[in-house]
Amino acid sequence: MLFVISARLFHGYRVVLNPLRFVTLQDIAHTVQEHLIHFLETNNLQILAEQARTMNLHIHGYDTIQDIRELQTVYVCDHCS
Ligand SMILES: [Zn+2]
Repeated sequence: MLFVISARLFHGYRVVLNPLRFVTLQDIAHTVQEHLIHFLETNNLQILAEQARTMNLHIHGYDTIQDIRELQTVYVCDHCS
């Protein structure tokens, strides 16, 4: 399943994850953020990595992993928190 960040600076960053490996939607949002931070750090983009750490990513409109299991793309949001 494709998870895409919806945020001012990092909009469009995407990562494929198996949602069944996670317990909660917040676990997924946290892992998407970790992937982005890892990507930035391994490319020595330290200032952007610091920015990425300040995001409060979440998946809204759904309550559980079961709720998203039929979707192909899920947006992970930093806009409305
Ligand atoms: Zn939101």
